[in-house]
Amino acid sequence: MSNANSNADAVAVTRSLLQFDTINPPGRERDCARYAGAMLQEWGFKVDYHEYADSRTSVVARLGGSDRKKPLCLTGHLDIVPLGARPWSKDPFSGETDGDKLYGRGASDMKAGVAAILLACRAMSGKLGSTPGIVVVLTAAEEGGCIGSRHLAQTQLLGKAGAMVVGEPTSNYPLVGHKGSVKFHASFKGVGAHGSMPELGVNAIYKAAKALDKLEQFDFNVSAHKVMGKPTLNVGTIEGGNTVNAVPDSARIGVDIRTVPGMNHEELLSRLKKLIGDAEFDVFSNLPPVWTAPDDDWMRRVFEICQPYVGEAPQARTAPYMTDAANLLKVYAGVPTVVLGPGEAAMAHQTDEYCSMERLRQSVEIYEKIIRDWCA
Ligand SMILES: [Zn+2]
Repeated sequence: MSNANSNADAVAVTRSLLQFDTINPPGRERDCARYAGAMLQEWGFKVDYHEYADSRTSVVARLGGSDRKKPLCLTGHLDIVPLGARPWSKDPFSGETDGDKLYGRGASDMKAGVAAILLACRAMSGKLGSTPGIVVVLTAAEEGGCIGSRHLAQTQLLGKAGAMVVGEPTSNYPLVGHKGSVKFHASFKGVGAHGSMPELGVNAIYKAAKALDKLEQFDFNVSAHKVMGKPTLNVGTIEGGNTVNAVPDSARIGVDIRTVPGMNHEELLSRLKKLIGDAEFDVFSNLPPVWTAPDDDWMRRVFEICQPYVGEAPQARTAPYMTDAANLLKVYAGVPTVVLGPGEAAMAHQTDEYCSMERLRQSVEIYEKIIRDWCA
C-alpha cells in the first residue's frame, strides 16, 4: 500500500467514525461499534459485541492465534465528550479538513486512533493465520470513568493478551503508563436543630470541615515515583445544609486521589477512613496505575519502532490522563502496555478539536510494525 493511499484511507475511515454522534452522555455507541465490527468481520476477524446497557456497545474482535504466545491487544474508545459551550468554527461531525488538520469531536480523542487501529488490522489481516494474532477492543463509555471497560473486564470476552497498545492521543510518542485514581464521596451525618439553638444539634458541616483540614495535611508517606512523581489529593466538591438558619444534619465532600505504582488502594482507603472517622464512604471509581518499565523488552522494541517518527530516542514519559488499560489489565494482568496514538493530547476535549493527518498516516504504519513484530 502506498503512503498516499494509506493516507486517504485513514482519513476516510476517521471521517466516517466522526459522523457517528457518540457524545457521552448519553453515549449511544451501538451504530459506531457495529460499523467498526462489520469492517473487522469483513477482514476475517471473529467479532463479539457487548452491551452493558442499551446502546452502550463495545467490540471485541480477534484474528489469528497460536499456543506458543498470547495475542497483541490494540484498544480504543468509541465515545466522545460533549461539544462544550463555545461555538465551533468547523462542523464537529463531518470531518472537514484544512491543510494537515482533520476536524471533528473525537478527531484526536480518539477516533483517529481507532481508525489507525482498524487500518493496521486490515493491512495485516491476510498475514496473521498461524501467528499469535491480535485482539481489538473498542470500548463504550470511556469518558467519565471507564465504565464500558469495567463491565467488559467482568465478562469472558477479552480472553488473553500478551501486550497492549492503547491508542489514546500522544502525537505518536510512546508513553509507558499513567497514574491510578481513587474517587470517593464522604458523607457526614449531624443532628438538625433551629439555627438559634445550635447547642441542641450536631453540625455536619463542622464535621466535614474537620475532615477537610486533615485531608489538606494528608501525607501519603510514599516516595516519589521516578517518572510519575508524587501522588495527589484534591477535594473537588462540598455540599451541605439546606438553609442558613438551621443546624445542618448532612454534608458531603468529593475527593479525587491520583496514585502512583507501588501504592495499595485498599490500604490507602482504610488509612483515610481511620483519619476521617465518623463518615460514610462511597468509592465510585477505583483504578490502579498503569506502568511498564521502559527497559521491558517489548517496550524497547516499541521505542525503536517509534524513534524515526518522533525524531529522537523516546524517553520514559507517562500520560496525564486515565485510560481503559486500568480495567483491561484486571484481565490481561501484568502485561506490558504502551499508550500510543496519533491524536494530539492538547486537542482532547477542546473546541475545534482536530488531528494531524500526517500523524494519522504514520500511526497506521507504527501499529502495523508493532503487530508484525509481535506476530513474527
Ligand atoms: Zn480518550
